[in-house]
Amino acid sequence: MSTQRVSDDVNMIDAPYHGRTGVLGTYVVAGEKVAVIDPGPASQVPGVIEALDRLGVEEVSTIALTHIHLDHAAGCWMMLERYPGAEVHCHPKGVDHMVDPSKIEAAAREAFGDKIEEYGEIRGIPKEKLKASVDGERLCLGGVELQVSYTPGHSIHSQSYYEPRGRLLFAGDAAGHTPDNLGVVIPASPPPYNPVQATESLSRMEALAPSVLCISHFGFHGGAVKWLSDFRRQVLLWERLASEGVEEGRTLTETYLTVLNGDPFARKLVSKNPEAKGHVYSSLAGFMSYAKWVKARK
Ligand SMILES: [Zn+2]
Repeated sequence: MSTQRVSDDVNMIDAPYHGRTGVLGTYVVAGEKVAVIDPGPASQVPGVIEALDRLGVEEVSTIALTHIHLDHAAGCWMMLERYPGAEVHCHPKGVDHMVDPSKIEAAAREAFGDKIEEYGEIRGIPKEKLKASVDGERLCLGGVELQVSYTPGHSIHSQSYYEPRGRLLFAGDAAGHTPDNLGVVIPASPPPYNPVQATESLSRMEALAPSVLCISHFGFHGGAVKWLSDFRRQVLLWERLASEGVEEGRTLTETYLTVLNGDPFARKLVSKNPEAKGHVYSSLAGFMSYAKWVKARK
């Protein structure tokens, strides 16, 4: 477990996930009060709490979720056991799933099989602990604040948080992944994914003119606006290739090859880390299922 300073008010915790670090960045924003963004699943939360202890954090007032996927949010119940005064903020479409995670759990089990055991115990949290976020809302922490911006696409319940003092944008998975420190960005878009919403969300994020992009998988990156515009170009390219693939009746594997051919980021990622092929496949599947849905409606 390690912590890294992002700005005067913000640290990133890298708590190990099944022995691996660099999987999920949990951000700690400290004014007079403290917010924790995406504490992760129950298997990671003990490391997050240990890091908070090391940072001298005794109380957490706000747990801010970028979305309610299990790898970001499933350990909230354990955070609340340690910090009973905290409120959990999420998109209104995520509230019911946070109270009763059984549907999200079933969907994850279908996608990942028994691997979801790695998340640790999945439990709902009491409804009275949840605050449904309002778009544009400001979470005031005393001296520092987080501004909520709805950024759907990766999921319908995705939202980002902007911290204006350090011009930091906490985008969750809405601005893609930057795996393995390779300097590449790649979509995180398993089905159900909506690339039209995703690009609208990118416009909202770009309009904030952030300086540093803090993403979940993984790390914080300067030159945020360039990251976002590179990523937008990539989303539009994948959307076009997926839609052409569906029109031409190409399989996922055939379309994957057109993506490797057309996208230098995907090519670099897979050549440096062949295991990333599965990530590119599942992300492309989200684009293709959206393209099929569009085609079926024509
Ligand atoms: Zn996610």
